[in-house]
Amino acid sequence: AAPRRTLNFGAGPAVLPRTVLERVQAEMLDYAGTGCSLLELSHRSAEFMGLLARASADLRALMGVPANYRILFMQGGATSQFSAVVYNLAVDLAAPHDYIVTGGWSEKAAQEARRLGANVNTVFSTKATGHDGRIPPRSEWRLSADAAYVYYCDNETVHGVEMPGDFVEQLPAGVPVVCDMSSNFLSRPVDVSKYGVIYGGAQKNVGPAGVTLVIVREDLIGTRTAPGLVVPVMLDYKTCAENDSLYNTPPTFAIYVSGLVFEWLRAQGGVEAISGVNARKARLVYDVIAGHADTYRCTVAGDGVRSRMNVTFRVLAGGAPSAERERAFVAGAEQRGMIQLAGHRSVGGIRASLYNALDEAAAAALAAYMREFAAAPAR
Ligand code: PLP
Repeated sequence: AAPRRTLNFGAGPAVLPRTVLERVQAEMLDYAGTGCSLLELSHRSAEFMGLLARASADLRALMGVPANYRILFMQGGATSQFSAVVYNLAVDLAAPHDYIVTGGWSEKAAQEARRLGANVNTVFSTKATGHDGRIPPRSEWRLSADAAYVYYCDNETVHGVEMPGDFVEQLPAGVPVVCDMSSNFLSRPVDVSKYGVIYGGAQKNVGPAGVTLVIVREDLIGTRTAPGLVVPVMLDYKTCAENDSLYNTPPTFAIYVSGLVFEWLRAQGGVEAISGVNARKARLVYDVIAGHADTYRCTVAGDGVRSRMNVTFRVLAGGAPSAERERAFVAGAEQRGMIQLAGHRSVGGIRASLYNALDEAAAAALAAYMREFAAAPAR
């Protein structure tokens, strides 16, 4: 019998569908009748170029990426994109670069832009309230009409803040919108045409660490580099686009597994279908938090921004967050085969990541354990 899989609530890298892992295992020693592992095949072989083209086409179909957008498979993680957006899109470093700061990741992106010499304008920041998702009213946002771009992070993986699906509609038309979707990529429908650049490290909803997906509108490629800036070749959207993501050796294994996940997702009914599943999974957990206010408190206070992907909460003792009780919560979960529930080291607490590959039964098992834990007397 197959070994029982633990239920993995980790924030990454990569929770993957079981069927995808089985397929990888089955194909590991002999990829597509070549007698070689995919790991050993040239990235210029017909087999690899074929799978790269299929992965790209499947992603285009899944997200409805319009024809005037390019899909790039890049390296260096989402962190490299913090720099790449400045190199590729700054136009003029002195122009305002509008950053919306809703958590640790958008804060890091803004920091990197500043480090590279861009004139960063913070549209608003929730830092003062610990990135608890309390978004100021739009009348208080400091948007620039002449910004090089406006940047936000769609889902803050550490702080559990996910912007509403229609957030992009509130941003000025005519300014390219740059969005980090690392941790909610392919988790719900997105109108790609509203964005200049969407990017994400693959290692949450998509595939293994090592490949970064970048979707960029064609007219922004190679046209907006600030005078005096020379784009490092590996960060250059133009080089990557002109070489169909094969300028140098790509992370072939990560792209292969990502392609299998795209196929899996299409078979699940695509983004629309998984979006419904994701909403139900998140509701199961948030309902327990709301129903046991003496034991659990969500760390996100803002309305409509509680993440479906990373549910962050504290465990209370005597009405206050208790690191000790959280350790007991995590230990009890591990005894039940539920792992990686501790919050990010920078914030503590509990974080339950509910990525696409985690099914409803897993979320239900967590919710049942949370009810059981809340009912047991605190020791
Ligand atoms: N942006 C978000 C939203 C993330 O969750 C992460 C990593 O967890 C990053 C950026 C950084 O990604 P990477 O580790 O691929 O550089």
